[in-house]
Amino acid sequence: MKENIRFSNLDRENTIQKLSEEVFDLVIIGGGITGGGIALDAASRGLKVALVEKGDFASGTSSKSTKLIHGGLRYLKQFDFWLVKEVGSERAIVHKLAPHLVLPEKMLLPLIENGSYGKWLTSIGLKVYDILAEVSGDDKRQMLGKKEAMKLEPLLPKKILKGAGYYAEYRTDDARLTMESIKTSLNYGTVALNYVQVDGFIYDKEMIAGVSARDVHSGIEFNIKSKYVINASGPWVDELRTLNNSNKAKRLHLTKGVHLVFPQEKLPIKQSVYFDIPDGRMMFAIPRGKVTYVGTTDTNYTQDKNKVTVDIADAIYLISAVNNMFPKIHLELDDIISSWAGLRPLIHEEGKSTSELSRKDEIFVSDTGLISIAGGKLTGYRKMAERVVDRVATRMKEKHNIELAACTTDEISLCGSDFKKFKHVKKYIAAVYERIKEDGFTEYDAWFLVTTYGKQTETILENYGNLKETDNVIKMAKAELHFGIAYEMVQTPMDFFIRRTGRLYFDIDSIKILLNPILEEFKKVFELKNSQIESYREELEAQLIESSDFTLRRN
Ligand SMILES: Cc1cc2nc3c(=O)[nH]c(=O)nc-3n(C[C@H](O)[C@H](O)[C@H](O)COP(=O)(O)OP(=O)(O)OC[C@H]3O[C@@H](n4cnc5c(N)ncnc54)[C@H](O)[C@@H]3O)c2cc1C
Repeated sequence: MKENIRFSNLDRENTIQKLSEEVFDLVIIGGGITGGGIALDAASRGLKVALVEKGDFASGTSSKSTKLIHGGLRYLKQFDFWLVKEVGSERAIVHKLAPHLVLPEKMLLPLIENGSYGKWLTSIGLKVYDILAEVSGDDKRQMLGKKEAMKLEPLLPKKILKGAGYYAEYRTDDARLTMESIKTSLNYGTVALNYVQVDGFIYDKEMIAGVSARDVHSGIEFNIKSKYVINASGPWVDELRTLNNSNKAKRLHLTKGVHLVFPQEKLPIKQSVYFDIPDGRMMFAIPRGKVTYVGTTDTNYTQDKNKVTVDIADAIYLISAVNNMFPKIHLELDDIISSWAGLRPLIHEEGKSTSELSRKDEIFVSDTGLISIAGGKLTGYRKMAERVVDRVATRMKEKHNIELAACTTDEISLCGSDFKKFKHVKKYIAAVYERIKEDGFTEYDAWFLVTTYGKQTETILENYGNLKETDNVIKMAKAELHFGIAYEMVQTPMDFFIRRTGRLYFDIDSIKILLNPILEEFKKVFELKNSQIESYREELEAQLIESSDFTLRRN
């Protein structure tokens, strides 16, 4: 596997030229985890793949999830055994493919008086969960008594706590997982570009033969010719099906999910908790670095898909649920330091409430050959991709008698995952810390670099060594930015602060320090005018307020 394949918006014109001149086997619309997974699967089976994304990669739902690679315990309640088995088994595979990005996370499920899970049901449920997902060793579920549960999480409600289930899940960074999938697919020749919107389709004898696309920044329009087109546009799937006149029978049902972020000091839980809330739903509280985040809501959504916001009612709902479960915690709206809201692209089922809708994926193929995929979960992205590409394989066999290779993505490590020399990610984090501590960096900084970039931290440290800058924190951020611009298609400061580094969510204070120097670096590298830099600044400042300031929304 080659790391550091150039993937830069500085080469944008060349990439657009490639997209418009070459003929592809497959064009994928949408650079979320679904599109990214399909790109890797298809390209690694030998198809010539193009992928286009109208915003930044992962700017849709794939940067707004709970960021868990999880088996979906609650789907057992809906008797969705097949889904639990598939996503449950995928956890260990995705962890193997990107051990720095998909990290084990033990989950505590408190049993409380009058809660929705009794001890017996939880014990059986978690056992079934383990069996379906073939969990072994230390990861197998344990049932804890009240004392043991309180020891693991002293903030639990002592008076009404009866015990807890303790089981294994994995935590990730959804946007980076998407990015690494797309980058890994470059090894197999994928041509991918962000900020390219598909506005229509091109046809040959009434069958799809490509897409008409537009460079969102320059407005330049061009066609991408391709034998097959896959619509992996998440919440926008029906819009593209409408453009193809094929939005028939099944349709999407979008539900909104919100997460709030608090400083660790304000919600100092020691470990991840999956807990009951008074309306019968469940939610997560997850400590991560300097913060704890909580979520999520699940409400019908029919408004603007391009501007999904956290409403005051969402925030109050989540805060009340946290305060209810952790009696010593008294969170208020002013304690929120960041937040995000995303849309679940689920498939509509008549008469079902939002939380009853299945999370299963489905593939729709139109008469003209547009292949759309909807539903599903981040966790199941690899299997979803396999199913879609298998469909393409069947059509290739039928139409052209071409045999496509079988899926091998369970063996393809994602970029940044080569830890052989260190055996374990933790050892690499320790080694990175040894190298940077003399410059004033903390263990958190080493952890952040490795869990964000994995082994690609080496390139960032090399950049760091070559930069001339007096402030080490700024120097490291610039080193990251140079990496992002050269190898990860960073085009705007929002790409950098939100999707590539997660700073907006998990280290928002750092943006205040880094904003000016990073804008300066953008200006230099992309040779931008002051007006463009000012517009970036305004966009970012508005985003900071949108994510963290709930006092405005209260009035
Ligand atoms: C609140 C919430 C929490 C969740 N938590 C989890 C979790 O913890 N674990 C889990 O496994 N799953 C979780 N999920 C589900 C998971 O996040 C989604 O299933 C997944 O991210 C969907 O990815 P996608 O690629 O299909 O869609 P998206 O990420 O939305 O990608 C589609 C992309 O298509 C692009 N696009 C749209 N139209 C066009 C066009 N015309 N031209 C070009 N590009 C276009 C969009 O800009 C977008 O980036 C959660 C979902 C939500 C909402």
